[in-house]
Amino acid sequence: MWIVPEAAIADLITPEASFTAVESVFGAMSRGDAYNFPVIREAIGHGDALYGFKSGFDRTGLNLGLKSGGYFPGNEAKGLTNHQSTVFLFDADTGQCRAVVGGNLLTALRTAAASSVSINYLARKDAKVLGMIGAGHQSAFQMRAAVQQRDFERVIGWNFDPEMLPRLADTAAELGLPFEAVDLDQMGAEADVIITITSSFSPILMATQVKPGTHIACMGTDTVGKQEVDAALVARAQVFTDEIAQSISLGECQHAIAAGLINQNDISEIGSVVNGTHSGRSSDEAITLFDGTGVGLQDLAVAATVVDLAIERGVAVEVDF
Ligand code: NAD
Repeated sequence: MWIVPEAAIADLITPEASFTAVESVFGAMSRGDAYNFPVIREAIGHGDALYGFKSGFDRTGLNLGLKSGGYFPGNEAKGLTNHQSTVFLFDADTGQCRAVVGGNLLTALRTAAASSVSINYLARKDAKVLGMIGAGHQSAFQMRAAVQQRDFERVIGWNFDPEMLPRLADTAAELGLPFEAVDLDQMGAEADVIITITSSFSPILMATQVKPGTHIACMGTDTVGKQEVDAALVARAQVFTDEIAQSISLGECQHAIAAGLINQNDISEIGSVVNGTHSGRSSDEAITLFDGTGVGLQDLAVAATVVDLAIERGVAVEVDF
């Protein structure tokens, strides 16, 4: 069995490799070659922690496994990040544990890869202005992955907590792009692509604020009750998601579904666009919206890539198990 420690991950996997792994597993999901098992997420009744398991099997990549992870609000005081996760991969032929992989950085990379895949397949080719709503831990990863897909000339940003905006400014500077903090009207009027990555429980961006032709990647809503955009904006858009079952139950679409503004048949899998069975954006004027709910197969895909690279480069620790 192989162990790839969290500290080794940063030197092993690039945003490009994460993109390829996630794009490929979205395609496999849509062909029916890969599926996610039901998600478990519980308040464990200890230290206010939430803990859960996301798992699945990809028959094409033979990735069988799970990500176990949770949120421990007391961690920061201990010098640890609040979100902690680990990926376990199993041999699909024998069931033996094949690898244990640190899952913290991988979670950020696979989430950024998902919105990046959506931008690649759904945003207008001439997109020039990237809009960021959210300036937390994930936002920098999101921005770095997004700029690989289009020739963005500038980044504009809005955040609920304005004191966090320097993270967006610093990341844009690292990428050689000018940054401007804007209000939400300016965001909707100017951005060609908007990524939302917040822990909001009420709509931030309204349908009336967004111009035709925009692509929106809603990445923050991964739990019942969370919401980042107006349900009417979801209803106005051509909607895509990683997995429809999650989209309608715990993703951004949960609210438009509950309000009766859309139904399940209005939502398409991004994997069908990857596979070419859906043509994607219908016109330059359409608003496209990707509901990135986050599935276990994304975690398995990037973890499997990391294990292969770690073995190849001699940094995986082999354990007799
Ligand atoms: P973080 O705690 O570092 O940042 C939280 C962000 O949400 C900040 O921008 C903050 O200002 C904003 N925010 C907080 N309360 C808000 C409110 N009431 N209204 C609007 N904005 C508010 O978190 P993070 O690690 O950057 O994660 C952001 C979100 O992404 C979380 O909801 C997390 O659960 C989600 N997430 C989703 C996936 C996925 O696969 N879809 C993966 C990882 C994280």
